[in-house]
Amino acid sequence: MSKPVCYSTKAFSAASASPPLGATTIERREPTPTDVKIEILYRGVCHSDLHFARNEWHFTQYPAVPGHEIVGRVTAVGSGVKKFKVGDKVGVGCLVDSCRTCPSCQQGLEQFCDLGMAGGTYGGTEKWLGTPTLGGYSQSIVVTEDFVLRMPANLDLAAAAPLLCAGITTYSPMRHWKVGPGQKVGIVGLGGLGHMAVKFAKAFGAHVVLFTTSPGKVADGKRLGADEVVISKDEKQMAAHAGSFDFIIDAVSAAHDINAYMNLLKRDGNLTLVGAPELPLPVAAFPLLMRRRSLSGSLIGGLPETQEMLDFCGKHNITCDIEMIKMDEINTAYERMLKSDVKYRFVIDMATLA
Ligand code: NAP
Ligand code: ZN
Ligand code: ZN
Repeated sequence: MSKPVCYSTKAFSAASASPPLGATTIERREPTPTDVKIEILYRGVCHSDLHFARNEWHFTQYPAVPGHEIVGRVTAVGSGVKKFKVGDKVGVGCLVDSCRTCPSCQQGLEQFCDLGMAGGTYGGTEKWLGTPTLGGYSQSIVVTEDFVLRMPANLDLAAAAPLLCAGITTYSPMRHWKVGPGQKVGIVGLGGLGHMAVKFAKAFGAHVVLFTTSPGKVADGKRLGADEVVISKDEKQMAAHAGSFDFIIDAVSAAHDINAYMNLLKRDGNLTLVGAPELPLPVAAFPLLMRRRSLSGSLIGGLPETQEMLDFCGKHNITCDIEMIKMDEINTAYERMLKSDVKYRFVIDMATLA
């Protein structure tokens, strides 16, 4: 594989695990025959960006450029690209590559590539250049067409950006566990993922209960679609829901007691963890053993399901509640995120990275 020609593009990067992030210039490959070059217009800020920038998952290589909720406009296509043309509005999520031949990839579950070749938009390996992949905190990106998504024309592009991670990460496990009418579904944590989980659970017809540590989010929880909101620090409110849930999705970014939520599941109920805190969460045996409950995890979603989710959002007019910020406000945004003060996803206007 010959090394493609590169070009320079402006970006924001972390030089080390200590803040702040700052302006820089990075090199990207020019499109190969199967690549799409995208001018990034908006980009959502995921809590994973913060975990990654600060090396909380212990695999970050520096300089690191986070960002995997990317929407933009196609500015060039390789000679073999069939699905996209210059000017198309497109999205890129958490994946930019995989082997595409193993059973998981063949089933459209590229995030679980059996050969371990699921390539992260950041934190993976840029196979053409042999360097770490650099994410969307940049003016442009080049991605193989198989990993580029089509954005529904009716959705506001900025408000749709977080669908590329927060959206698919909550949509996928709810589809897998067949969330639907007649079910009682719990959402733990009203952040970027949590607020999309509330919207999807409602759209799928479930009775939705939001669990939050923030009393100030009760009204928003109801406005977003929750039928009930529980302050999770209030033991009485928690006890009132014991043994009653079919499914709970836990989207908390920090250490917390998951056993309290296991106790709220019915017989054969499931709690799916999508939050990815730095430290392990202790699991008590008895809440699991009683009532044959299960605990599972879920990782983003594959390409076909991500397109399905985007089309579902287009059809039902679902977008994210966003707060638009400038690129150089990212460090303040991270601090606010750590205080659970996000309503409910920061999105960066990439025109501010001039
Ligand atoms: P976020 O916007 O910061 O929201 C996290 C929410 O968790 C907060 O708003 C808060 O909600 C709650 N929370 C925070 N600290 C807490 C604590 N100490 N105890 C209890 N609750 C607390 O984060 P996000 O972007 O939604 O991401 C959430 C997690 O999912 C992160 O760990 C992220 O890395 C992970 N993630 C996983 C995947 C995947 O594929 N599985 C994909 C994307 C992100 P309340 O104020 O309502 O309590
Ligand atoms: Zn993410
Ligand atoms: Zn594979």
